[in-house]
Amino acid sequence: MDKKVMSILALAAIPLLSIGCQDTTKSEASAKTSAGTNTPAEERILVAYFSCTGTTEQIAEWIAGQTGANLYHITPEIPYTAADRNYRDSSSRATVEQNTPSARPSISGSKEGMENYDILFLGYPIWWGQCPKIIYTFLESYDFSGKTIIPFCTSHSSGIGSSDTNLHSLCASSVRWIPGQRFSATTPKETVKEWINSLNIHKNTAQDIGVFNFDTKTVLLNSGHTMPIVGLGTYSLLDDVCVNSVSESLKAGGRLIDTAYMYHNEESVGQGIRVSGVPREEVFITTKLYMNQYDHAGEAIEQALQKLGVEYIDLMLLHHPGAHDVDAYKAMEKAVKDGKIHSIGLSNYYVEELEAFLPKITIMPAVVQNEIHPFYQENDVIPYIQGKGIVMEGWYPLGGRGHTAPLLQNEIISAIAQAHGKSSAQVILRWNLQKGVVVIPGSSNPAHIRENLDIFDFELTDEEMAKINGLDRNEKHDWY
Ligand code: NAP
Repeated sequence: MDKKVMSILALAAIPLLSIGCQDTTKSEASAKTSAGTNTPAEERILVAYFSCTGTTEQIAEWIAGQTGANLYHITPEIPYTAADRNYRDSSSRATVEQNTPSARPSISGSKEGMENYDILFLGYPIWWGQCPKIIYTFLESYDFSGKTIIPFCTSHSSGIGSSDTNLHSLCASSVRWIPGQRFSATTPKETVKEWINSLNIHKNTAQDIGVFNFDTKTVLLNSGHTMPIVGLGTYSLLDDVCVNSVSESLKAGGRLIDTAYMYHNEESVGQGIRVSGVPREEVFITTKLYMNQYDHAGEAIEQALQKLGVEYIDLMLLHHPGAHDVDAYKAMEKAVKDGKIHSIGLSNYYVEELEAFLPKITIMPAVVQNEIHPFYQENDVIPYIQGKGIVMEGWYPLGGRGHTAPLLQNEIISAIAQAHGKSSAQVILRWNLQKGVVVIPGSSNPAHIRENLDIFDFELTDEEMAKINGLDRNEKHDWY
């Protein structure tokens, strides 16, 4: 194996590991992940496969070569002969097994040290439209709780279809199941490589996820993508005002723009980006699906892409909990797979809502965006969200339009601002960043837009942070 490729991919695999880990804990602006062993990443990935004709074996070897993973051949105690696999014979061994729900063909031997693996690629041929029953035996023979399983199958024509969902249903709910992929005997190695790359395996370490980098002004999301930690909110900015505000922000060095279907300004945001002259790839665009779009989310995602005039959306959120939100999230998951959205997340979901929602989805949200300002701090919610490796983003950082004065004129905040030679707005934004909360202040005033980005040349002391923390009065400024 090419050692260089192997070592790059060894590092590359780690963010995916963290996606599979549920017990991440995190303190202010720093993350500690559960991948806290010294085992090299490639030794924590296993490609387990069952192959009779060599087709699945070939794909398994390519995956192992690409990821540096170990290989494990699931070998039947009694090998399958060609006659056993004759699907035209209704009494052949495999036909009978496939038609018997309780059939569990025995496996020869077992895999030592399965508990040391975090990611399992699981390969099998499609038999009679389904996964061979020996894979059921395999899945039921080990405890895969908390691990990530990525199935792949080989077939002439059938897709992975319900074999994927049927296998998933055999697993504990803590297993992270990545929707599977079908290959054929003629699939080129390059296609397998592209698939592995599409799994958002990147060259960063799990330790970086959720940690704010104040030099690059970004944070690494659990999706493997990087997000700026300060940007521009565009709620209530319409038409030319929106175009100009977006363009001003980008020209001033801002790289994150937050919009939503409900703001009626996705076209203007797209136009503002083009007017700014900043290349699209340098801009991180967040938009949101509204509740009235949840029952036709696939179509709504296409509309958002069209309105923004982009080929992909960096981050799409569900704006609120609501009817069909799981369906809408699944449509976003599909769009991630199709390359139309890089990262997905939620907005206005609190602990109770997340507890109910997360077990129903496959891709862990990368971001949750909720109301957060010194008078409404969500100190109970933030650690819960960050503890799951999800980045917290705050809306109404300055209290929201019509509510900014009591915050900006607050005596404690003003005194801290004066001590640093900064404005109250800058202090509030900085306080958020030091708590590990991404900020998206809204403004149509170019001077304010520049001011709000200029928050990296000072640092609040622990004492100052504590004073602002003390201002919490559970005062929500909007209904959701
Ligand atoms: P905000 O950022 O808390 O406050 C905006 C107000 O602050 C505007 O009146 C603005 O006036 C003023 N302002 C901005 N910078 C200032 C500065 N440096 N000094 C003094 N005043 C300043 O409220 P928001 O814009 O409504 O919320 C932020 C973003 O969060 C929204 O734009 C939107 O993208 C997002 N959001 C999301 C949700 C959700 O449900 N997910 C809900 C609400 C908002 P000027 O224009 O004069 O600067």
